[in-house]
Amino acid sequence: MNKIIIIFATTLLFACNTKQKENNMIEQTNKIIIAHRGASGYLPEHTLQSKAMAYAMNADYLEQDLALSKDDVPIVIHDIHLETVTDVAEKYPEKAREDGKFYVIDFTFNELKTLSVFERFNPQTGKAVFPNRFSLKKSSFKLHSLQDEIEMIQGLNKSTGKNIGIYPEIKEPAFHRKEGKDISKIVIDILNNYGYKTKNDKCFLQCFDFEETKRIRFELKSNLKLIQLLEDDYTENDFEKISEYADGLGPWFGTIITGKNTKGELIITDFVEKAHNQQLLVHPYTFRADAFPEYFTDFDELLEAGLFKADFDGIFTDFTDKAVKFLEKKHLRMQVK
Ligand code: CA
Repeated sequence: MNKIIIIFATTLLFACNTKQKENNMIEQTNKIIIAHRGASGYLPEHTLQSKAMAYAMNADYLEQDLALSKDDVPIVIHDIHLETVTDVAEKYPEKAREDGKFYVIDFTFNELKTLSVFERFNPQTGKAVFPNRFSLKKSSFKLHSLQDEIEMIQGLNKSTGKNIGIYPEIKEPAFHRKEGKDISKIVIDILNNYGYKTKNDKCFLQCFDFEETKRIRFELKSNLKLIQLLEDDYTENDFEKISEYADGLGPWFGTIITGKNTKGELIITDFVEKAHNQQLLVHPYTFRADAFPEYFTDFDELLEAGLFKADFDGIFTDFTDKAVKFLEKKHLRMQVK
């Protein structure tokens, strides 16, 4: 009898413990979700509206791509030209250069603010790049400066009590230099003024140009966390050199998760291991729920592969909400503070 009671009590206790454990098993994760051009899966990329939406979705960081205006204002826009996301060709047809493109750097900030911003489209065909996203040309959004965006994020951090970071990218520094402008210096001065100065501040600064990232660390003496973005112009032997000036790498995820073998298992290179051996973080781009390689059956499989099987430290995604939900399903909470 007593034995039965003990077994029953033990079972009950075990059941309670398990239940309690399930409820309490929300763990902090160091894996970060970076809102790629804002909530760009839902609203035109890099608009303030898209950033506010990604903020509300609890991204850890919001991304800002930056190109300078004629009057040295860093504009939050992906390309150094305008015709893929605005109505510049209709509003200022005379301002095209010989290559037919309209450059941000040929316009003052006030001129840029007269443009309407749309969902990304192909200027040749007039068709949307992502056909199932926000309606094309049936709305009017505006361009804004880096300062505008930082002020919105810092204002939201104050009103919500969250501490969401920024993740600016210096676009085409060599082009800017040829036009007589030092974009990195201008951006770093602004970041300093808004309190982003050290590796403890919630800011990663990113650039594809190797020499420029190095220059930001050594010549411009920035102490921010730096991410060296990568295309296909590197070998893994470069990681040691990169680790002398940068804190992490930003490759395309497809160079690390390259496919599936005949058994249906993912093929993952040793990129992350080699990067981690040099104390480099790995933040690959771009996780899109509506555009991923055919060897993934759905977006969650891609997230699982990137964040856990390949052990990325963070990801750039157009769909912050889906990435956050994915971590929540695993009882993992991102570091919002
Ligand atoms: Ca970018």
